Amino acid sequence: MSKLELNALNEIKSGMTRREALRFMGLSPIAAGVLASAGSSNGTNAMASDAKGKIVIVGGGAGGIMAMARLRKALSNPDITIIAPNEVHIYQPGQVFVAAGEYAPEDIIGSNLDFIPDDVKWIKDEVATFDPDNNTLTTRKGEKVSYDYLIVATGLVYHYEKIEGLTIDMIGKNGISSVYLNNLEKGTAEGGSITWKWFNDVKEAAKKGKPRVICTQPATPIKCGGAPQKILYLSDDFLKQDGLTADFTFALNGDKLFGVPAVNKALNEVVQPRYGNITNKFKHNLVAIDGEKKIATFETKVETKGAYDEDLEEYETITTVERVPMEYDFIHIVPPMSAPDAVFNSALAWQKGSAKGWLEVDQDTLQHNRYPNVFGIGDVCGIPLGKTGGSARHHGPIMVANLISQMEKKALTEKFDGYTVCPLKTQYGKIILAEFNYLGAAPSFPLAVEEERWIWWAFDLYMLKPMYWHLMMRGLM
Ligand SMILES: Cc1cc2nc3c(=O)[nH]c(=O)nc-3n(C[C@H](O)[C@H](O)[C@H](O)COP(=O)(O)OP(=O)(O)OC[C@H]3O[C@@H](n4cnc5c(N)ncnc54)[C@H](O)[C@@H]3O)c2cc1C
Repeated sequence: MSKLELNALNEIKSGMTRREALRFMGLSPIAAGVLASAGSSNGTNAMASDAKGKIVIVGGGAGGIMAMARLRKALSNPDITIIAPNEVHIYQPGQVFVAAGEYAPEDIIGSNLDFIPDDVKWIKDEVATFDPDNNTLTTRKGEKVSYDYLIVATGLVYHYEKIEGLTIDMIGKNGISSVYLNNLEKGTAEGGSITWKWFNDVKEAAKKGKPRVICTQPATPIKCGGAPQKILYLSDDFLKQDGLTADFTFALNGDKLFGVPAVNKALNEVVQPRYGNITNKFKHNLVAIDGEKKIATFETKVETKGAYDEDLEEYETITTVERVPMEYDFIHIVPPMSAPDAVFNSALAWQKGSAKGWLEVDQDTLQHNRYPNVFGIGDVCGIPLGKTGGSARHHGPIMVANLISQMEKKALTEKFDGYTVCPLKTQYGKIILAEFNYLGAAPSFPLAVEEERWIWWAFDLYMLKPMYWHLMMRGLM
């Protein structure tokens, strides 16, 4: 980062009010006013719909709280029940900044008590089973709840146990870390601080030699698809700041670094060559780990030419799966992820295909394909793009408008364009703000999507968190 950029960052950090900072970021004075005064407003809107019906929201994370706040404004007489076990609310994107030593762990902790008002019925429990044919669900404590309309906002769950030999208690020991680690039901997010210690342990090791560091990315969809690379680049840059280095391997199941071609090119041709110490292992999926011996085993598919097929006039392709062991000193693990069991095993999930187990909603309207009184928001949705808070923010107004149309027996007109955003932290002080949708790159600002910029770092580090708590969670953005 240049001295000028550092000064600008310090300026933002030290002196700006929220209103000034928003203006500085180029957001409208109206938005600045809203954020500056946010906190008290959750009154209903004069244009609110008179539609009636009992709405049950399942999940009290980013999507569930946003949906609740928006519905309270959009309906004149809302009848809302939220089923959410957690009083503590984690600002999950901040886990990466905790891992990088930029936030303290307590900086990302909030409370659902601040968001769920008395006129919303709050059942502090989890849903165990859904019965959409009878418009009911059952909680873990055995309470049967009926609904007219259902919003599924359960997010996703991690499957560390699917990596043979790995147990949660091994994370944080023996060179193993995982920024994702959190327990949203209990309201804990250990992954950030464990990974910050890991950054420092790698640095200590690099003072004595050249440690072997592996960063992984699994074969399933994951929330914030860029986070595995954020840890790769930030941990490498953390060494570079002290003139140290290590041998980094990025082992990922995919066959490219990023889905958006311009961003993929920048990562391959600008970011990784600048480090000069990263080896990519594409089509490598972590399946087992020996924590004592420090050996990670990956599965990789090898394709070889088989017999010639006279009818097709081509050679058969024979695919074999090989297990590849790799020794490491440090490893950052991103676990396989899926929808929670309650959704995965229910009639609400896609029953087959690549989205099997995720909520079966239409990728445009976010309405369930088979149960029209059911809608989805956030990571649980089985749609082609977007398991990010940024996507959930875009789902919010579309899903709520379509739900109200459904309640009013009108046609559903609002369409989600697939928007998602990945603030790829390519070094301390710089971010590639990769915004894209079903059609490709979709920057909100007239700036090249693949450029590393300090302004996005400042925006992410200082602006997004207050915007999340004061605007998004209150249905104002
Ligand atoms: C390390 C990390 C970095 C990230 N970085 C970014 C980023 O830079 N930008 C970005 O936009 N997004 C980022 N994200 C992703 C973002 O946090 C999620 O996409 C967002 O929180 C999704 O909202 P959600 O409501 O779908 O799920 P969540 O916010 O995860 O909430 C789901 C809630 O549902 C609850 N639940 C689960 N099962 C049940 C059940 N059966 N009954 C009742 N409740 C249930 C859970 O306890 C949880 O509270 C990041 C996430 C992580 C972990």
